[in-house]
Amino acid sequence: MSAELRIGAHLSISQGLPKAIEMAVEIGANTFAYFTRNPRGGAARTITPAEIEAFVAAKERTDVRDTVGHLPYTVNPAGKDRVAEFARMVLREDIERASAFTGEFLNFHPGSHQGDGPEEGVARLVATLRDVMPKASGDAMLLIETMSGQGSEVGATFAQIREVIDAVPDPRLGVCLDSCHLFAAGYDLRTPDGVAAMVRDLEDAVGLSRVRAMHLNDSKQPLGSHRDRHEKLGQGQIGRDGIRAILRNEFLRTLPIVLETPIDDYREYAGEIQVARELAG
Ligand SMILES: [Zn+2]
Repeated sequence: MSAELRIGAHLSISQGLPKAIEMAVEIGANTFAYFTRNPRGGAARTITPAEIEAFVAAKERTDVRDTVGHLPYTVNPAGKDRVAEFARMVLREDIERASAFTGEFLNFHPGSHQGDGPEEGVARLVATLRDVMPKASGDAMLLIETMSGQGSEVGATFAQIREVIDAVPDPRLGVCLDSCHLFAAGYDLRTPDGVAAMVRDLEDAVGLSRVRAMHLNDSKQPLGSHRDRHEKLGQGQIGRDGIRAILRNEFLRTLPIVLETPIDDYREYAGEIQVARELAG
């Protein structure tokens, strides 16, 4: 197999973005993801121009690229009223902020329909993005994450994601896959054929050029369970063979890949990244 993987993990930026690059290098990563704000709140830490400058310079120096800012879980762009209002504010601010970091992606969970049904949820998500995208300046790409379909989540089918992309004419809008969520949503990723079938569906529904990143996680819960529980690579229901099939798929292996598997300390990711590189061949 050819080109080197672009792979990393979700890291804390509480000690600053440049420090997160050092952490990435320490664990053998050449990309990483981070929460743009407190994941269960919404307050943003002030990131000074000096910190941004140091971050951009460190990326150049280290070949850490395509970093992905993850919006907080409290952002629900498929929600209504004040919930949607908060989502619009955060989306716009974070797109503009991340654009200053250069070469950035942002990803977000498409959210919950709050009991009003998926159609209404998708319609509200479209309305949110149609409002935000024209106002948000900058070139950071905003990636919709594929979900497991737990509870009232929207975005668990490629058809729903297609609907959103069709209705929001902005080339900065893309898709972030999550292997655990896809498996829980019903895509059998345990074999090369199963993985290829998922990629074909994705190509037909969304088009591969929109797909710009992937969260690589094993799943504690079985196929089609619609339950979102991440597991370490090879230790869950997708298993070692499935993770190998994902990493050897000729399209998926070209994406920036981010681990969000359960750990107590980020240094544990070093071993898992090593395993992923071996499985990728
Ligand atoms: Zn994810």
